[in-house]
Amino acid sequence: MICSNCGIEMEAGILRTDGSPCLYYIPNTENSLYGRIITKKEIELKGGVVLDGPYVTRFHVLKVKCNICKKCRKIVIDY
Ligand SMILES: [Zn+2]
Repeated sequence: MICSNCGIEMEAGILRTDGSPCLYYIPNTENSLYGRIITKKEIELKGGVVLDGPYVTRFHVLKVKCNICKKCRKIVIDY
């Protein structure tokens, strides 16, 4: 994948987090969902997008394929 900002080849990798029940995008106008059980439906109703999960426990490694441009400090993911 080519960086749309600078035009160099981006490096492929994985965006991941360990020990979390869910990885999601949510608009910054929404309050944190931390500390309670969350559902995909709740996240989507708040304008969010679930990238992996949610799971009931925290015994998961959440992974999303991505490409990174370290020059521009940009990460691009598909969902
Ligand atoms: Zn770039």
